[in-house]
Amino acid sequence: MSESTLTWQHAPFNLAWRTYRALSPEIAKLSPQLLTLLDALDAHVAGRLFVHRTWHGGGGGGQHPLGTAFDGRIVGMSILEQFIEITRFPWGGVGLYGSDVWRNPGFHVDVRETKDNRQARWACRMLAGVRTYDALTDQYIRRQIADGA
Ligand SMILES: [Zn+2]
Repeated sequence: MSESTLTWQHAPFNLAWRTYRALSPEIAKLSPQLLTLLDALDAHVAGRLFVHRTWHGGGGGGQHPLGTAFDGRIVGMSILEQFIEITRFPWGGVGLYGSDVWRNPGFHVDVRETKDNRQARWACRMLAGVRTYDALTDQYIRRQIADGA
C-alpha cells in the first residue's frame, strides 16, 4: 500500500508516528503535552517511532481514554535500548511490553500527573496466559534480553 492511498482506517496499528500524526483524527483527542513529547522522541530517534495505539474509548480507566497515553515501539531497538531512549523524556508513566505480550516488543508512555516527579514504571508479562503487571526490575530486563526482545 503506498503512502498516498493510506487513510486513517489503516492507521491505528503499526504505523510510523509521522504518518499516524498526519492521518488520524484521533490526534485531536490527544493532550498537547503528549503530542509535544512524542514529536520530540520521534525526532530523537529519526522517525523510527511507531504507533500501536493511542486514544481509545474503551472502559476500564487508565490513561488512554483521557488522551494522555501512547503505546508503540522504536523500530530496530531492543527493549532495553527503547527504555533508555524513551526515559530521556519526562513522562509520567512508562511501561514495557516484551515479546511474550506483544509481537513487537515496545512500551506505553503517558503524561499523568506524578507525585514528586516520580515516574510510574512497570513491566507487563504473560504469566500462565494472563497479562501480569509487575515492577520494572533488572531481572525483567535481563529475561527480555535473553529472550531476544
Ligand atoms: Zn498503554
